[in-house]
This record gives sequence, C-alpha cells and structure tokens, in this order.
Amino acid sequence: MPDALSRRDFLASAAVGLAASAAVDIPHAMRPPRPLPPPSRWAARPVVISSGNGLRAVQKAFDMIMQGADTLDAVIEGVKIQELDPKDNSVGYGGLPNADGVVQLDASCMHGPTRRAGAVGCLEGIKTPSEVAKLVLKYTNHIFLVGEGAKKFALSYGFKEEDLLTPESREAWLHWRANLNPNDNYLDLPDTMSVVVQAPTGTINCDAVTPQGDLSSVTTTSGLAWKIPGRVGDSPIVGAGEYCDNDAGAAGSTGRGESNIMVCGGFLTVEHMRRGMKPTDACLETLRRVVTLSEKRLLTADGKPRYQLNFYAINKRGEYGAASLYPSHFAIHDGTQAKLQDTAHLYDTPAAND
Ligand code: ASP
Repeated sequence: MPDALSRRDFLASAAVGLAASAAVDIPHAMRPPRPLPPPSRWAARPVVISSGNGLRAVQKAFDMIMQGADTLDAVIEGVKIQELDPKDNSVGYGGLPNADGVVQLDASCMHGPTRRAGAVGCLEGIKTPSEVAKLVLKYTNHIFLVGEGAKKFALSYGFKEEDLLTPESREAWLHWRANLNPNDNYLDLPDTMSVVVQAPTGTINCDAVTPQGDLSSVTTTSGLAWKIPGRVGDSPIVGAGEYCDNDAGAAGSTGRGESNIMVCGGFLTVEHMRRGMKPTDACLETLRRVVTLSEKRLLTADGKPRYQLNFYAINKRGEYGAASLYPSHFAIHDGTQAKLQDTAHLYDTPAAND
C-alpha cells in the first residue's frame, strides 16, 4: 500500500481529473452524475483498481467518479476502452477466437448500491459485453444470459452486430490451427505472432469505490484463446471473476479461470476482507486456497502452479491491493495519478517446465 495521500495532493489530482475529462455521455446510465459532497463528508477515499492492462480504465473511471458518476457506470466506461481497442487481443473487439475461429465474449458486473448483478457468456458479434452485462443487471429480473439469447437481448437495445475478428487475431488463429497436427491439410502462415505454445489468456477487471463509499466491479474477456466453443471461464461468473458487496469490498480476477472457479475467488476475497483482512492479504489468502485445491497435473514437481492467476481488491474505506501467483502488476488510481504497481506474489519464479 502506498503512503497515505495528503489531502492537498488528493484535491489537486482530482481537480486535474475534472478538468481533463469532458462531460461524459453514459449509455444506459445507472443514474445521472450528481455533485459530490464536500471532502470533509467523504465516507471513503475514492479508488479505482484494475488489471495491468487497465491504466486507461482507471483514469477514465476515476475521472468519472470525481464528476459524480455512478460507481458501476464509471468502471464499465473504463473497461470499454479496452474492449473497443483492436490491439488488446484478450478482450472485446480483436479478442483471440475459440477453436472454430469465432470470438466469444464473457463479462459480469455487480453494483453495490442496488445489490444487483448482470452477466453474459459466449456472446458473439457485440464489441462491448460489459455494457450488455450492465443492461442485464439494470433491466431484467435475471442475472446471466448466454449465447444467442444474450446477442438477441443486446440487439434489442440497439447494439450493432459486427465481425469481432481483426486481421491480426484471424492470422493468429490460422497459425494456431496450422500447428495443431503436422499431418493435416492446413499449411502454416508466416510466423508473425508467437501464440502457439501456450494458449494466451487475458482479461480486464476493474473495481471502484466512490467518495460516498459505493462500490462496483466488472470483469470482461474473450477468455482463453482457442477454447472449446461454448467454454466460459471465471469472468462471467458472479462470485468468481468479480464480486462486490457494498458493505465490505469488491474484488476481481484475471488468469486461469478454471482455477478461480474452483474457489469462487471473487467472493472469497471479499469475505476475507469482511472478516478484517487488508485487501492484499485477502488476495494472497485466496491464492493459497487456489494452490491447495489444484489438481496434481496443474502443479510442478515442487508443487508450484503451472499457470498464472491474479486477484485485485478494494475495501469500503478505499484501501486496495492485488496479488498474483507469480510477479505481475496492476493499475491503480488512488487520487494521485493512474499508475502501475507490482502485485504481491506467492512465488518468485515462474513454474519450471518439468
Ligand atoms: N480468466 C479468463 C478466463 O479464464 C482469462 C484470463 O484472465 O486470462 O476466461
């Protein structure tokens, strides 16, 4: 945790954020932005945390929070930057496809103030699954829509169906397919991307607390590259990919989803904080449970995981932390500036290839 922020620094940074961001148009806003109470009446230090690819997300969400936006509206608009970026091949548009060459997207979110949740899985043709998850949360009596139904639902709210494969992600998939079996009829393409050995993963999680102490969480992903069509990981599973309880905290995860699902890691991390653990300790404790529950095939001879998993957490007071199995980093805006910090970790060296 960084040193406590001086009130002057905080206000200076907040003012910069306010000046820097134009008034935001928030699609399907949970509520319109409203003036913040004076800092003397703030219940929490406003903070936005995200995975290492979320530097722009934390900046955007923090600026919106300082403009009085709702906590969920802020994090959704933050992660949408990544979803819409064709260069991020782990999320939304440009995400790496499944084994059939089809991009299937997953997302879930929770809104502390209303105690609601929304999620979509295996969503095809829509660039911003986080936004669709928010619509499920806001406009339905359900929590989780998948596949065709999720797409139809999105189209009914005016979303456009689009081809989510970029030339780069298509080429990466063709390259993977050509290397599956040396005896099949597919020839390899020029080796422009090194994506073959280990299926790449990637995701963005973002969690926020406002000055009023209101929390929210969102996680969005294209999931494991080359997955079996229909596979969903942890990201769209409320309680695994993310979880938020307005009385305790919010947490989310990136990395090997199957390992997180086994421990309901988002929920478990928030429960650790509810019982008084600091966010970093809560994340580390969840990771220890993950390792304990790992099948033998997923561990090296010396008992280290053969995969990476990360947790990010904030509590109701605006304290934050993150931890990984192996060294990694996370994005944070704590009122000074958007920056990357190292995660705490359980193991120093990557798993040996034994
Ligand atoms: N957790 C995501 C999944 O398993 C992937 C990732 O974060 O890299 O779908």
